[in-house]
Amino acid sequence: MWNMDWKPYDGEERGLAPPPREIDRRAPYKRIATEEAWNIPEILAAQVRLLERAGAPDDPSLRMAGMFSKLNDLQDQLMDLGERRLARMDALGIDKQLLLLTSPGVQVLDPDEGTALARLANDRLAEACGRHPNRYAGLTVFQPQDVKGAVAEIERGMQTLKLNGAVLNSHFRGRYLDELEFWPIIEALEANDAALYIHPTIPPRAWSQPYEFRGFGGALAGFPHEVWMHTMGLILSGAFDRFPKFRLVIGHMGEALPLLLYRFDWMQSNADGKAGLRGGAPAVKLRHKISHYFKNNIWITTSGQGWEPSIKFCMDVLGPERVIYAMDYPYQQSADEVAAYDAFDMSPEHKKMLMQTNAEHVFRLKR
Ligand code: MN
Repeated sequence: MWNMDWKPYDGEERGLAPPPREIDRRAPYKRIATEEAWNIPEILAAQVRLLERAGAPDDPSLRMAGMFSKLNDLQDQLMDLGERRLARMDALGIDKQLLLLTSPGVQVLDPDEGTALARLANDRLAEACGRHPNRYAGLTVFQPQDVKGAVAEIERGMQTLKLNGAVLNSHFRGRYLDELEFWPIIEALEANDAALYIHPTIPPRAWSQPYEFRGFGGALAGFPHEVWMHTMGLILSGAFDRFPKFRLVIGHMGEALPLLLYRFDWMQSNADGKAGLRGGAPAVKLRHKISHYFKNNIWITTSGQGWEPSIKFCMDVLGPERVIYAMDYPYQQSADEVAAYDAFDMSPEHKKMLMQTNAEHVFRLKR
């Protein structure tokens, strides 16, 4: 589907990759990386089983899981929550990882199986966090197609397992949380004070073809556009007006959305207050401008984007409290990138917010 041989540069051409530099081993902040992927073998096996089943869903995300299943070294890194990962974190100067079940996760599976495997993954995650409380925190995973099961698992993950929020690998067989039947999930997230991290997957079958045709299903376009759809869908559905304490986190510099907030506010009436959207829903008129939700309900992380101008822009327009460091282990890992953060020309206060304290606050790491 696309080239899985990740390289920041080939040969002499480095592009925007930062120059080689030493990590500051005495930095006056902890580095908490907040979009770090992991998986369990049972979920990978269930994805492969479903993919090979007669009449398997025609789901590009499921095919992506099948493609990833063949990358043995990647899978070893995803499955390991022990010495290998900790050694790599040490080498990269990462004090703590916030663990997110890797995309596409349980939500490509059938509803009951997805919920059962979400429970298993959350149990294992809580164990790992218990073994290494200074090195790991983690987000509850749930199967959104099973709304009741998802609500129960969010409650269990937050109240019993003491996890640090929830993760959704974006659409589920083409469905999005902005559809009313899934709002009990948002209600549960808000009630349990769980920030929801929406992580990308490849776009659904209904609109993936032009992307896959060009090799753009992933990070070059499909991933950011898909989370863009989910985020704008939630805003324009009125979900944040209905649940004003609902907190959303999106990665990859907010999937580029912050760059266009001015225009979104200007053009808001394209979708705001319009009847008949989402298959005939009544008109929803937002209480605020789109930019308001980015400054009150949404946080962004810097996953895969160790690029000073973009980070400073987002801190400027959203506020320094809304931008959170992430690496995207194991998919994108670079000591040069970590060292580049150390070298950013930024006040010590803002640097510490970026690398440490914003994550502690949003993911309630000290609860
Ligand atoms: Mn990621």
